[in-house]
Amino acid sequence: MKLYNTLTKTVEEFIPREAGKVKMYTCGPTVYHFAHIGNLRTYMMEDVLEKALRYAGYEVLRVMNITDVGHLSSDGDTGEDKMLLGAKREKKTVLEIAEFYKNAFFSDCEKLNIKTPDIVEGATQCIPEFIKTIEGLLEKGFAYVADGNVYFDTSKVQDYYALTGHSSEELMVGVRDDVTEDQSKKNKSDFVLWFTKSKFDDQELKWDSPWGVGYPGWHIECSCISMKHCGEYLDIHCGGVDNIFPHHTNEIAQSEAYLGHKWCNYWFHIHHLNDETGKMSKSKGEFLTVSLLESKGYDPLVYRFFCLQSHYRKPLVFSYEALDQASATFNKLLGRIARLSRDGEVDCDFVKANRERFLGAIGNDLNTALAITNIYDILKANTNDATKLACLADIDSVLSLNLVRDTEEKAEGVAEKTALELEIEALIAERAEAKKSRNFARADQIRDELKARGITLVDTREGTTYTIDN
Ligand code: AMP
Ligand code: ZN
Repeated sequence: MKLYNTLTKTVEEFIPREAGKVKMYTCGPTVYHFAHIGNLRTYMMEDVLEKALRYAGYEVLRVMNITDVGHLSSDGDTGEDKMLLGAKREKKTVLEIAEFYKNAFFSDCEKLNIKTPDIVEGATQCIPEFIKTIEGLLEKGFAYVADGNVYFDTSKVQDYYALTGHSSEELMVGVRDDVTEDQSKKNKSDFVLWFTKSKFDDQELKWDSPWGVGYPGWHIECSCISMKHCGEYLDIHCGGVDNIFPHHTNEIAQSEAYLGHKWCNYWFHIHHLNDETGKMSKSKGEFLTVSLLESKGYDPLVYRFFCLQSHYRKPLVFSYEALDQASATFNKLLGRIARLSRDGEVDCDFVKANRERFLGAIGNDLNTALAITNIYDILKANTNDATKLACLADIDSVLSLNLVRDTEEKAEGVAEKTALELEIEALIAERAEAKKSRNFARADQIRDELKARGITLVDTREGTTYTIDN
């Protein structure tokens, strides 16, 4: 698998620290409002990455935080807490806002077939971890207390700007005008780890700490939640490009200062979805959400298809014309798939060869556009319909476009196979191949992953069958 790494600025062969296992961290949503479809582009491409890694045979542990405190209205340390702004806007408590928008986020994700990460943890659930890490940073001399707040001292780390590839001056352009410099900081790039003093005294959620009653900074949340679940080393850290600076830059600085070694090897960033006026916004113009698209009659998966047609490392411009085009193409494609007859024996060799072709596309820095052309190649291929459907169900475990849908009408006398059955058949075929080539790890992984989904494989002399839990 090849991935572009923001840290080295090259497409690299992905090699996890522990063979066959990937620890992956995703910056989660700030739950003060609905996610716009731009935010969801980021989560969708991270979902494709996770599924592609699993498809390539890796065991993946994916962790995501929910930012329910500490993210100020600028990504630095200025402005009001976004959660508090949301609570004031809707005359609710911060906890009510967090619960409501967290559920809305996961409901949007479900509509877009975005899998929930293995571990999801709210920042407000990890206050003791934040305090412990901040104490460690103070002990090691990487942090200081000034006027009640605890700051990270960026002058103590080497190569603070490694991830951005830019100097401090370049990054500050355009920021200076509207940001009042915090006089308590030793260096302009220092950032707050723990707030006790803020311009906004009405901060609703506060906790006791060795430095006084206060609340954590946004950046420390992700470092600590990642370390809590993934340990001292992380393979891949993901987010949108706006997270590169200052958020991820600060995450690296504090995590490596605390741990005393390199923390994460691969940094994966998704470019923005913009509307035709430029930046996507939650307050100005039309607030583009999944529900809005649905209310206009679009299947949310049309938006997934629209995103997959473009590379994640290119900015993408949203327009209804472009979405209409994607919708027409997608529906035509689904129509062609629905007309496949579903009978016949699955040609395992063909499914296996197609896996290689698909991996060649998706494993090449997530070339989803090329992966979509694989759908057309399958449809045109010189093989029977059952094999085509098995291939489509197989690659849909990554694309998640519900390519093989269960039709209402069942052809008489023909054993109708569901998408799930076709997917299981393809996996059974792959497992048999894996065993033949003595790749027992992959064979076991397929069995275990199916088991986790309630599907038990039964090996008999005649071949492998399965049972599905109710
Ligand atoms: P937030 O809820 O603001 O913390 O953002 C959630 C995720 O969406 C982060 O990973 C951001 O980098 C990402 N993001 C923000 N704006 C956009 C956009 N216009 N297009 C794609 N991703 C975005
Ligand atoms: Zn984060």
